[in-house]
Amino acid sequence: MYLYLKLKLSVSTPDAIFNEHLYNFRKIQDNQMQAKVTNILLQLNDQSLMGRITHLRLKKIQYNEWLSTSLLHTIPPHIIKKYRNNFLISSIVLLFSLNIKFYNNDSFNNLFPYNISFYDLLLENYYRYSSFFQKHHILFLEQILDDQDYLLSKRDICVKFNLAPHVALKWYNNLINNLNNNTEALRILNQTYGQQFASAPLKFNQFNVDSERIRKEKNHSAKPILINADNRNNPFIGTPAKRTNFNDVTFDLKHYNIISHIGIHMEIQRCEECDDTTSFFSPSRPHRHQQPASYCNVNVFFNNTVVLYTGTTSKGLNSRIIPISK
Ligand SMILES: [Zn+2]
Repeated sequence: MYLYLKLKLSVSTPDAIFNEHLYNFRKIQDNQMQAKVTNILLQLNDQSLMGRITHLRLKKIQYNEWLSTSLLHTIPPHIIKKYRNNFLISSIVLLFSLNIKFYNNDSFNNLFPYNISFYDLLLENYYRYSSFFQKHHILFLEQILDDQDYLLSKRDICVKFNLAPHVALKWYNNLINNLNNNTEALRILNQTYGQQFASAPLKFNQFNVDSERIRKEKNHSAKPILINADNRNNPFIGTPAKRTNFNDVTFDLKHYNIISHIGIHMEIQRCEECDDTTSFFSPSRPHRHQQPASYCNVNVFFNNTVVLYTGTTSKGLNSRIIPISK
């Protein structure tokens, strides 16, 4: 009321005074801000019960929102929005806006030998899945890597975290997408592990009875394109030979060579023979007036084989062209 009266009064006063009133108004706002800043700094630095309660409140929000780092370190945009009426959060946001930073902040990172949080990888999409992650105590990327730092398949994640096999894991594709396309996510990965990945080295879905069932359900009639990593330095690409028996340990992969890999397309061509050839096959219907050609099979382990692509491939000149990303 006081402000209103003052401003109203100023309408009939000379410019100079009017400006001065505005200046006073700003000063009052500054004072309120200053009081808020002083108040929150006192609370955070308080060694008595009040300070402990303040930090507990922050921890509780951090836990409820399932964040790996302290809110005194970073407040994600969705938290700022969700807690805009929360005095504590809005005060800390104010401190950040004044460039006040905190040292000695606790982080869950200190409790685990892990470095890369799902929040860092999923960013603005994280909050959609945070309750799922919290329920299953998943907070860091490292929790879903295997012994060789390869990303677990969805199936293996279900096994590891005791999830029903039909759980959708909607975040998984999001994660893969971000690891490959989000430069910030890749930067974090490279920085943490001292790597120079241009895209993340990922393991996709294991080639098994389930992946074949899913492929058939999606009416993908073409044979899946597989990658086998028996020899990790030189993975084999190919399609499964006819009548693959999933009860065996190994199977025959019709071997293809990558002839070009440009942008989002990869072009592959049947291998005729290589150092790894274990048997040969001939296409069932050779063109007329043509000698039946003979191509290379490589016998490989199922458990090192993942599905690269299950859609239809376009045909190049004596080759197949695979779109790599959606
Ligand atoms: Zn070959």
